[in-house]
Amino acid sequence: MLLDYNSLLLAVGFSAACLSLTLFGTWLTARSDKFLLTWAISVLLVVAEVFAYDAYIAAPGTTLGILTLALLLLGFSVMLGAAHQFRTGRSPLPHIAIGAGISLMLALPPMALGYDGLGFMLENSLAALLLFGTAYEYWKGREEAPAQLVGVALLYSLTASSFVLCAAVLAWDGKPVLGHAPSNWAEDLSLVIVIASMTGIGALSLALNQGRLARHHKREAETDALTGLLNRRALFDLHGKTPVGAFVAVVVFDLDGFKAINDRFGHAAGDEVLKVFAEELSGNLRPTDVAARMGGEEFALVLKRALPEMVEGTAERIRIAFAARTIETETGRLNCTVSAGFAFGSSEGVSFDKVLSAADKALYAAKRGGRNRVLDIRRCA
Ligand code: GH3
Ligand code: MG
Ligand code: MG
Repeated sequence: MLLDYNSLLLAVGFSAACLSLTLFGTWLTARSDKFLLTWAISVLLVVAEVFAYDAYIAAPGTTLGILTLALLLLGFSVMLGAAHQFRTGRSPLPHIAIGAGISLMLALPPMALGYDGLGFMLENSLAALLLFGTAYEYWKGREEAPAQLVGVALLYSLTASSFVLCAAVLAWDGKPVLGHAPSNWAEDLSLVIVIASMTGIGALSLALNQGRLARHHKREAETDALTGLLNRRALFDLHGKTPVGAFVAVVVFDLDGFKAINDRFGHAAGDEVLKVFAEELSGNLRPTDVAARMGGEEFALVLKRALPEMVEGTAERIRIAFAARTIETETGRLNCTVSAGFAFGSSEGVSFDKVLSAADKALYAAKRGGRNRVLDIRRCA
């Protein structure tokens, strides 16, 4: 090898320190991603371990031995916690407590009693288990971004395997007392694998986090903040470009006398009414139906594999349920109704815009007809 073990070890320490700093900096710019902070801390613990281990190589002793062992197992336990936090959004503390508790309980006593060979063997085995656990967390969450997450899981598994090799070589030698840091081909190989994996894991994980942020912003841009439904733009992104077939219906809803409600009960009460209507709308949908707030007090519904009776049934169900709701607001209890119009595409395919304006026409016929009703465009010529 061109570089000696110590130089490589220090290279790991410095590059891990840079990774930890990058993670910390990224966390500072996106405080909601708390797993970045947990991960930065785990990498920092590994950095501390690297320098403690370097000191141990120069001057082996029980205190430094305990310190390096504790820092590595604690660091990897925090890394496991960060992976769990990344996948689930939940607190990393239980995984950290269990990982660190068990691994330290098993590996520290032999090291403290002077059985450093046994201590290092246990340390390597337990580090491997923690890293396999971390790999498994990313594997379980792979649906979010398959290529990147499987890559991260593989790199953690590769690193874990290198620790298994280190443990196996020590076990093969069968020396419970070494009196110095283990030095063999498995240790050298493991260090090279750690350098390669750390670079890969760092880059992939930061890309993953960026991807997550981008998806979050996209969702925010597509969602109506008041009701949580899709907004007009999202509905057009979904349906605006493809011709509408004969079995696809568009229903347009418009709350009745909404301006008067705003005038009498205030804008906040009006917002409450909009939320209640959105609830009724979402509560009456099949998984394939798409609901959106088009703006103001106007909503749209796109129903696939639909027939006229079924569409009318759905719109009526929503209308009746909404009319029956007494809405509690800060300024009093109130009732509101809704009118709706619907239209279908055709077997040749019609533009979404055209179907939407046909449904709109039916809606205005429903308004003219006295409100609180549902009309089919074919019945309002
Ligand atoms: P119609 O029965 O004919 O539909 O009458 P309307 O009063 O419901 O319709 P109009 O178009 O006259 O009034 C719509 C009102 O909706 C006017 C506007 O101030 C109000 N509005 C639009 N967006 C919001 C909103 O986000 N929150 C609240 N509270 N009011 C809104
Ligand atoms: Mg309106
Ligand atoms: Mg209205």
